[in-house]
Amino acid sequence: MQTSFTLAQLADPEVAESEKILRACVHCGFCTATCPTYVLLGDELDSPRGRIYLIKDMLENDRPATAEVVPHIDRCLSCLACMTTCPSGVHYMHLIDHARAHVEETYRRPFVDRLLRAVIAKVLPDRKRFRLSLFAAFLGKPLAPLLELIGLAPVAAMLRLAPAKVPPSGRVNPCVIPAEGERRGRVALLTGCVASVITPQINEAAIRILTRHGIEVVLAEGEGCCGSLVHHLGRKEEALQAARHNVDAWKGEIDGEGLDAILITASGCGTTIKDYGYMLRNDPHYAERARMVAALARDVSEYINKINKLMVVPTPALVVAYHGACSLQHGQKITREPKEVLSKSGFVVKDVPDGHLCCGSAGTYNMLQPQLAMALRDRKVACIAKVAPDVIAAGNVGCITQIAGGTEIPVVHPVELIDWATGGPVPGALRRLVDTV
Ligand code: SF4
Ligand code: SF4
Repeated sequence: MQTSFTLAQLADPEVAESEKILRACVHCGFCTATCPTYVLLGDELDSPRGRIYLIKDMLENDRPATAEVVPHIDRCLSCLACMTTCPSGVHYMHLIDHARAHVEETYRRPFVDRLLRAVIAKVLPDRKRFRLSLFAAFLGKPLAPLLELIGLAPVAAMLRLAPAKVPPSGRVNPCVIPAEGERRGRVALLTGCVASVITPQINEAAIRILTRHGIEVVLAEGEGCCGSLVHHLGRKEEALQAARHNVDAWKGEIDGEGLDAILITASGCGTTIKDYGYMLRNDPHYAERARMVAALARDVSEYINKINKLMVVPTPALVVAYHGACSLQHGQKITREPKEVLSKSGFVVKDVPDGHLCCGSAGTYNMLQPQLAMALRDRKVACIAKVAPDVIAAGNVGCITQIAGGTEIPVVHPVELIDWATGGPVPGALRRLVDTV
């Protein structure tokens, strides 16, 4: 694609990077076929190619975002299916991230939208605030239909998504969980924010698998939200600040006893942490450290799949529908490892038809774009039903919550199954099913 940025514009490193991305696009439109919003809405402006044109127009002409353009940017899930499809290697992720920051800087949203986004940005990344908000959401749940009726669908969606019961806290940092027997490795595990509050059993399962196989696990002092929630809201500085906190926390461990890897059980966070080197590339104090941290970041499935000999014990050979979270399959290009390690653990793994399409969770998308998110969820649940699974496995807390809201089939993280298959407890969501097998 031809561009006509001025030299003055290109002096801004963000613009220079986006210009490179724009030039790689050859307008072929292959990406439209796999874009969930284009599949649902059929509007070119809700396709990757359409959005690329809108972004180019804003950046090239120094145009502030407008009420006409913003809805198309907002409707993008950041699922990155377009990046998997694109034959020209267009790095859409960095482009849409830049566009979201541009929208945040140049567009004044309507009051309710602003308020909602501010609440999400201040509450979700903070474990204590989020836990408190869940109690409030539980009390407010009966009001969801009324709120929807008066046009507050996102608030209704937030209430519906809140779990009916808040589980007790899992382990919090700082903490070191020693390896059982001879120590063969040492890793940090991201505690993060939302996942540690609503699904603490996932990290607990990962810790048991790792320590059982001789890996020491560190929950580093000071680590917290990876920044992806605010990053996807266009709140660039807040995202960079979260990234810097985590870089400091993990660099301390790297320089201390050392780390073989930094493991992440929520793939949405993993995609962001693997991008820390890029995000902080223009920060002279952090660029090198961020690159080092990003290079050590692994999805938990990547690491566990490399464990030489999994200590598998007999468990029922359940049929597992594997849902590839977009952040894992498109963002990190990890498709094989979770399925391979589930198979090695004795499960019968089935792919979900149309598995490239997002389930509609996409970070905070299911709160901010509830109608589209529900349509995608229902489509996903129908596709999953076609393989008639006993259980659904997904490597991202957002997908787990989203899909579980639309089906009676239990939804768990792969590590919960692998932990069970290597001597851990039956995953909570499977207890009733296992009793009947
Ligand atoms: S990230 Fe997903 S929703 Fe956004 S343009 Fe690409 S395919 Fe479409
Ligand atoms: S597939 Fe790639 S090159 Fe083709 S229109 Fe989409 S982003 Fe551009």
